[in-house]
Amino acid sequence: MRKICLLFLLFFSALLQAQELSYYLPDSVQYNPAIPKPKEVIYHNVGEYHVTHDRLVNYMQALAEAAPDRIRFENIGFTYEGRPQVLLIITSPKNHQNLEQIRQQHVQLTDPSKSASLNTENMPVVLYIGHSIHGNESSGANASLLSAYYLAAAQGKQIDDLLNNTIILFDPSFNPDGLQRFSTWVNQHRSKNLVTDPNSREFSEVWPGGRYNHYWFDLNRDWLPAQHVESQNRLKWFHLWKPNILTDHHEQGSNATFFFQPGVPSRVNPLTPAKNQELTGKIAKYHAQFLDRIGSLYFTKENYDDFYYGKGSTYPDVNGAVGILFEQASSRGHAQQTANGILRFPFTIKNQFTTTLSTLEAAKNLRKELLDWQREFYRSASTEAAAYPVKGYVFGDAADPAKTEVFVNMLRRHQIEVFHLSNNLKTDGKEFVKENSYVIPANQPQYRLIRGIFDKTLNYKDSIFYDITSWTMPLAFGLPYTELSATQFNQNLIGEKVSTEKQLTGGIAGGRSEIGYLVNWSDFYAPAVLYELQNAGVLAKVATNPFQMETGGSAKKFGYGTILIPLTMQNMNSTQLYEKVKATAEKYAVTIQSIQQGSVSSGSDLGSSKFAVVAKPSIAMIVGSGVSALDAGEIWHLLDQRFNIPMTHLEIGTFNRIDPERYNIIIMVSGNGYNELNREKLRSWVQGGGTLILMEDAVTWAAQNGISGVTLKKVKSGIDSTKRLSYADRDELQGAQQMSGAIFGAEADLSHPLAYGYTQPTVALFKANKVYMERSKNPFATPFYYADKPLQSGWLSKENAEAIRNSAAVNVSALGSGRVISIADNPNLRAFWLGGTKLMMNSIYFGRIVDASAARAEE
Ligand SMILES: [Zn+2]
Repeated sequence: MRKICLLFLLFFSALLQAQELSYYLPDSVQYNPAIPKPKEVIYHNVGEYHVTHDRLVNYMQALAEAAPDRIRFENIGFTYEGRPQVLLIITSPKNHQNLEQIRQQHVQLTDPSKSASLNTENMPVVLYIGHSIHGNESSGANASLLSAYYLAAAQGKQIDDLLNNTIILFDPSFNPDGLQRFSTWVNQHRSKNLVTDPNSREFSEVWPGGRYNHYWFDLNRDWLPAQHVESQNRLKWFHLWKPNILTDHHEQGSNATFFFQPGVPSRVNPLTPAKNQELTGKIAKYHAQFLDRIGSLYFTKENYDDFYYGKGSTYPDVNGAVGILFEQASSRGHAQQTANGILRFPFTIKNQFTTTLSTLEAAKNLRKELLDWQREFYRSASTEAAAYPVKGYVFGDAADPAKTEVFVNMLRRHQIEVFHLSNNLKTDGKEFVKENSYVIPANQPQYRLIRGIFDKTLNYKDSIFYDITSWTMPLAFGLPYTELSATQFNQNLIGEKVSTEKQLTGGIAGGRSEIGYLVNWSDFYAPAVLYELQNAGVLAKVATNPFQMETGGSAKKFGYGTILIPLTMQNMNSTQLYEKVKATAEKYAVTIQSIQQGSVSSGSDLGSSKFAVVAKPSIAMIVGSGVSALDAGEIWHLLDQRFNIPMTHLEIGTFNRIDPERYNIIIMVSGNGYNELNREKLRSWVQGGGTLILMEDAVTWAAQNGISGVTLKKVKSGIDSTKRLSYADRDELQGAQQMSGAIFGAEADLSHPLAYGYTQPTVALFKANKVYMERSKNPFATPFYYADKPLQSGWLSKENAEAIRNSAAVNVSALGSGRVISIADNPNLRAFWLGGTKLMMNSIYFGRIVDASAARAEE
């Protein structure tokens, strides 16, 4: 009995030991007993449970209170779910007393007009330590408990040296909503006797999982588009401090070990200077040394890369800093059997903590080199810009000032200097009106980042990509723009610098009307205006022909898709309608035209049947297991955040059970789980008059199940099966055949309801799949198609180029009295593909007015 007890005790102490602080912390260090240990605040040992976000915040607050001379606590904003985003500023008591002065001096390194005179000999280096941007990669956030404790409590010369020479911006959780979702999942499945069977429910979260933020976005793709609150709050602090190193702690597959950058050398973005990778390599030596000390295996220069600037570990590289990606093999839950044995959560935390220590040591030792590099990065931007043939960029959409402003705000978040266009400009067959256009001179400190935003890329060193191959932003936003050569560019174009966010205003032009009002559909927020009015019971029609009429003494043109709000047939009187229209115009900063007569000078009179009634959309999107959460989230975010349009998230099981008659729009995005959906029910719903909007894989599913009239094109294999090929080359050969994401110009028929509101005939769309549709035999049923050479930017294999040539980008087919809209690609990518927004909203609003003769395939 005693023996058993002893064994039991030994077993338990081994288990417990793995969760005591001593398991993680370097034993050569003394800790200040006045500083609370994690367990005193979060009620469990580090690694025993997954820390929830609220307890994580409690602990960071407690540290800041206990060590105010070392730690300042900042709440930098709130997530969509109202969780605080926390940033600790950690440095020595002496530095804290001069913090603002240190910051100001530091950021001067990025300003070539001031940096030359700075002496970097005694300046602290600035680090941004960040954790778990993917909420279900939680060893990072859990390790932050230890790193913060260490920085608050460690005593002695070593820590004093470190804190004197560094300013540490410490973000314990880049994605609070995701972390909370994930920690709740794993903790609720934890058994007292840890279950390590990988089949156990603990290791497979329910859809959409904790990786994403509230709207199911991957925040580690949003550093550049910066369309989410989490990124916007974080970027503000990034640029306030301009760190020299930013770390990004992630997790990878459970059977791996530990990865740290540098990544694959041939896949570094060509705009990133070589010195950046040299420094990454020098810092890597510290990670190797520190991991060796604890006997933990790792790999480097494989799998991951520094290509897409929207990732946290790559964005710093184009900002004079060094971004570092860490990827720890994930235990997913508390302990899991893997190819390498049982992977325990505490071990994963220990690796993350250890590489924070190695980063700090590297930063301290390479301090001057990092600071000098930052200065040199910005100084050399000017020399490089002088040698670059493009001297500036002009952009702006007179038809859509709101979308133009979204773009300007995005640029300014990255501290790119934007100027008003001082004179109207006609160049490259485009017209830029000074009121709504802007100029960006290439020669400015953010020169490289500007190119990272504006460049088109057609040549690559490598053909395998971790993420998308191109993201040319003005194409994505669908904004008219042009690159200015030395002969086109001159200082006279440059007006006042944009220094604040422009507040657009809206209202009714021409005052109250006894006839009605017109809304220009080109305006980005027109769908929001329409929905708000419809929701108040207002009847709206859409112009299926352009027209011209007298307004306020001059003839004005109104394009396809103009929304007509007639006074007759409304449930409200003229005063009520005026008040509602006016309030809506003001709310969305849209100018709405008041109508003075029912007759037009060209086109159809307002009583004509060419004005079709627009039904108020009642939308359901199929979601859940087997559906791409990312693609679904993009639509949720678009409708909810931008346009205030509600949408039901419909699980496949629920669809199969209910009567879908209450919806007139059903959306299906990319996914492979649709075989569970009751296709007969879906078919009869469309036949009864519904509009089914399909994207990417859903297009394939519907075509194969007889729901749409789409014929799919096959792609030839790019791998020649008649040749003997080397096994070693297979990754390269297969990788080159992927469609990781490139930009194609679709030719739009601007008179088609799905193209209403577009003013340019070529619309840039983003393709990251191998869904290729034949053009319909019905010449009116392919409103958007890809012509002979549609590639605008990105990597494309010969075989994929052949498949996309002359294919349909959008197809409309009729089924009974309903319509099926098939969109081969993703018009909503990552919330910055605003050039696809009209296509999406037109599908919702105008799909059902597409004439049956233009949707029926000839048999
Ligand atoms: Zn990750």
